[in-house]
Amino acid sequence: MTATTKQLRVVDVILPLAVEGSFTYLLPASEKEPEVQVGQRVVVPLGKKKEVMGVVETVREAREDEEVGVLREVLRFPEEGPLVTAEQMQLWQWIARYYMCSLGEVMRAALPNSLRQEKESRRRKTPDGIGEKQTANALNEEQTRAVEEIYQAWEKTPTVLLFGVTSSGKTEVYIHLAEETIRKGKKVLYLVPEIALTTQLTDRLRRVFGERLGVYHSRFTDRERETIYKNVLAGDRYDVVLGVRSSLFLPFRDLGLIIVDEEHDTSYKQQDPAPRYHARTVALMLGSIWSARTLLGTATPSVETYYNALQGKYGLVEMKRRYAGLDLPAIHLLDLQRAYKQKKMEGHLSLPLVVHMREQLEAGKQVLLFQNRRGYNSFIECPECGYVPKCVNCDISLTEHKPVAEGLPSRLVCHYCGYSIPAPSVCPECGKGEPVDRGFGTEKIEEEAKTLFPEARIARMDTDTTHAKDAHEKLIRRFADHEIDILVGTQMITKGLHFKDVSLVAVLKADAMLNQPDFRAQERAYQMLEQVSGRAGRAGTEGHVILQTSDIDNPLFKHLQRHDYEAMYAEQIEERKAFRYPPFYRIIGMTLRHREQSRLEAASRTLHDRLKQVFGTRCSEVIVPAVGRVQNLYIRQLTLKIEASASYAKAKEMLEAELRYVKGLGPCKGTLITLDVDPM
Ligand SMILES: [Zn+2]
Ligand SMILES: [Zn+2]
Repeated sequence: MTATTKQLRVVDVILPLAVEGSFTYLLPASEKEPEVQVGQRVVVPLGKKKEVMGVVETVREAREDEEVGVLREVLRFPEEGPLVTAEQMQLWQWIARYYMCSLGEVMRAALPNSLRQEKESRRRKTPDGIGEKQTANALNEEQTRAVEEIYQAWEKTPTVLLFGVTSSGKTEVYIHLAEETIRKGKKVLYLVPEIALTTQLTDRLRRVFGERLGVYHSRFTDRERETIYKNVLAGDRYDVVLGVRSSLFLPFRDLGLIIVDEEHDTSYKQQDPAPRYHARTVALMLGSIWSARTLLGTATPSVETYYNALQGKYGLVEMKRRYAGLDLPAIHLLDLQRAYKQKKMEGHLSLPLVVHMREQLEAGKQVLLFQNRRGYNSFIECPECGYVPKCVNCDISLTEHKPVAEGLPSRLVCHYCGYSIPAPSVCPECGKGEPVDRGFGTEKIEEEAKTLFPEARIARMDTDTTHAKDAHEKLIRRFADHEIDILVGTQMITKGLHFKDVSLVAVLKADAMLNQPDFRAQERAYQMLEQVSGRAGRAGTEGHVILQTSDIDNPLFKHLQRHDYEAMYAEQIEERKAFRYPPFYRIIGMTLRHREQSRLEAASRTLHDRLKQVFGTRCSEVIVPAVGRVQNLYIRQLTLKIEASASYAKAKEMLEAELRYVKGLGPCKGTLITLDVDPM
């Protein structure tokens, strides 16, 4: 550079768009502007009239060959100094590369809405209650040993799996490790799955950490999220942040420990929109950026995590005994086919279950009835002609919902797009039959339980009854306070909750989950059933579990009865190897969508043919999903399976090049293609 040419300073800015690449702007010439920093927010012009909020990715001098004449100027700086730290920026860049999305998409996931807009941001009170501070409970012998082993394992590897059966007291171990981390002047991130973030856990941690605990929840308002974000950025407000997956994006300082509780939980994976990240994977990267230690905790490890532990990639520490010497609950199998044949059924409840329920209720105990509606949709059918009402926008049958008030008709609702119509009293197809409910959802079970036990206080917990803010917490509190005798619910009731009076847990159709076209179906069924069983018999109440099933000989149930995770794992890992699934292969899913079926099919074939040439047998055939049309868009899928030994980064590069090429071709124009790296 010569002294005569004054170099122009420019910034590359991340804008919240799903577009690749960065956007370059000129810095205002004014000398008064303070030094611009990476991570600082800027308001820049976009298009003809729009102004958008962006984040500075780089500050540099314009290159000789750069056409600075066409660049526009940064309009304003909402504040001095960066709002995104260097470590966050590093994490954003890694996520964009790994999950094949734009930095703008990461920015959208990472910053609370209010920080992506230019509004006067008022400081609000943090949604914190003031609790009386206590210290953690003393650890028992098993927990003390676990803590020692975790420290030893961390000497060898930064990531440790704590494999502890339900009720083994993992939370106490976490609290102990968190306190030690804080004593060393470092911060703790405590991750939980969406649904597990209940008042039960928050209250427990609040008692130990008091005002030093920050809670980050997706149900908080945007302003509340912004306040927490700024508190974390300031660095001196919290020692521990308890949060759901999005709390990985907070601007931490001096992070020393990341706890990923219930690491197997599928709600750690973001499905839509991009970035379709898995919180466990991102947590490991965040830990590596901070040289922090990571603890993955669960009673039922994911097959991938347990494999990594057995391979020595992660440390492995086990807790095989339940807290306070409790026994694991006894699991009884009930053969549904035989019960139906012998007419020993009351609706969907077998007679032995009804008898057992009556006994428990008379003894003043509580009962949990579990019905996993997923993959077992409710629908109505005409008994005369077999007509099933379907959604007009999606290829799926409609689900019947009972009227919200007396006298109103039932409604048929699409669970994909929300389309709804009044339930017909006469079949619109043949005009003769009266459509009947063939379904077997939670609503139906609740109704049956009310008929069988008119004296009992019965409630239902599923996505329909927990829409309202705090509805979930209220139900849990009422059940914990024994204001409810029978709780009917979906998997919501399985997550890490403690109810002292529950002596019986029943799963009404335990094999429903096994018949999913998904290589994780067995693993998930085991995890869910073991977790739901773990709700029985805590705090000195003997626990029983009844699994009703039409597939009584399935070996999975034998493993469950013995609480033999290792046996389930041994079977699954063999299948994964034989059929080329994780952890031996890594999967990239591609979804193509278009309004016109013929256009979509042409596009899928074009992409498929290209990928076959490059990736060979690693590319699947074109897949028509079970629900082939949603919201009037037809859907096709393709998957790539990449050997774990091959370079994942290289494969993604090659895929990206192919996608770029194919998107420019005639048949693919107008086709929406989304990518899902490591789909679940
Ligand atoms: Zn009909
Ligand atoms: Zn629909």
